[in-house]
Amino acid sequence: MRYQPGRHFLQIPGPTNTPLAVLAAIAKPTIDHRGPEFGKLGREVLAGIKTIFKTKNPVVIYPASGTGAWEAALVNTLSAGDHVLMFETGWFATLWNKMATRLGIQPEFIDGDWRSGVNADAIEARLREDKAREIKAVAVVHNETSTGVASNIAAVRRAIDKAGHPALLLVDTISSLASIDYRHDEWGVDVTVGGSQKGLMLPPGLSFNAVSDKALAASKKAKLPRSFWAWDEMIAANETGYFPYTPASNMLQGLKVAIEMLHEEGLDNVFHRHDRAAEATRRAVRHWGFEIQCRNPAECSSSITAVRLPEGHSADKLRAEILERCNMSLGNGLGPLADKVFRIGHLGDFHDLMVTGTLSGVEIGLKARGIPHRSGGVDAAVSYLAGNTGALADAAE
Ligand SMILES: *Cc1c(COP(=O)(O)O)cnc(C)c1O
Repeated sequence: MRYQPGRHFLQIPGPTNTPLAVLAAIAKPTIDHRGPEFGKLGREVLAGIKTIFKTKNPVVIYPASGTGAWEAALVNTLSAGDHVLMFETGWFATLWNKMATRLGIQPEFIDGDWRSGVNADAIEARLREDKAREIKAVAVVHNETSTGVASNIAAVRRAIDKAGHPALLLVDTISSLASIDYRHDEWGVDVTVGGSQKGLMLPPGLSFNAVSDKALAASKKAKLPRSFWAWDEMIAANETGYFPYTPASNMLQGLKVAIEMLHEEGLDNVFHRHDRAAEATRRAVRHWGFEIQCRNPAECSSSITAVRLPEGHSADKLRAEILERCNMSLGNGLGPLADKVFRIGHLGDFHDLMVTGTLSGVEIGLKARGIPHRSGGVDAAVSYLAGNTGALADAAE
């Protein structure tokens, strides 16, 4: 590979650009994970991460990618043969569904069109039919990273309550946590799954389970085999700030700084910044004359936009051209969307100039590849951003 000058633009929907302060924290010398300095760090990050999930309950931190925390959510709460109700929002919902089957759980998949979010009415209707209470959990993806559709989790909670059903609610927030408002306690979620490499602005390598009292009670009866993922030993050790096995201690140094940065900016300001970037991006895409994969404007994600290219044009060739010319990575289409869509990540550590820089790179690629579009999408984004102030408030929370 020849040297490509200029900073690489990592505009995939995770992993995201890691701020230098976080990288510097990760680069500090490794410490004794059983020593006193670690205990203080452990207590700080275990308390700090609760404020991001908006929970007072334990948050378990694994040295694993998000997929590990998916598995942890299932094996800690369920037994072989249990039914789990899932909703096909896209690629990530499909992978979680496959995992459930492999683990010996029986997932029921409500069909989706990969262009809209979880249909809470369909969840309610299926739960009402389940008189025998075979369904032990409802498992959904908050922000479907393959399509750029964000589902209404509070509505899913209401659907379960209206059906009067005791199922647990498991939610994947890997690409929404710290980018789109999320409330583990208020929305009555039982297990929330998170990852480090998206809104939390860290490299890949940490993942999370926020756990309700109801989920903890279920874990005492659940029979799926578990050892590495077991909550009980983790939570017991975490009480003093330590872990039952070697934690990813350097990543935790980075996590401490990332949490501080999020609070310094203020979580509401962070969400507002993501909303603005997403709106600017959608204005550019519509101006170009392309369709957004998310069909319902109320469900469009604030952390990722999936763009459909007109029939006969390769999204992968466009992405390759942009990488070659502009040193920028964009997300590929996943599963049935391969080569049909490209995905713009606008989450994590970025500002207006990175949003408009990203859109400029796309427009350069469109012109270079002769893909028919209306010129001036970047201007549409610039005008929107210029007329819409960034900050809501100065104060840290
Ligand atoms: C990225 C992502 C995952 C997968 O996480 P890994 O860290 O790749 O294991 C799962 N769900 C969603 C919604 C994601 O965005």
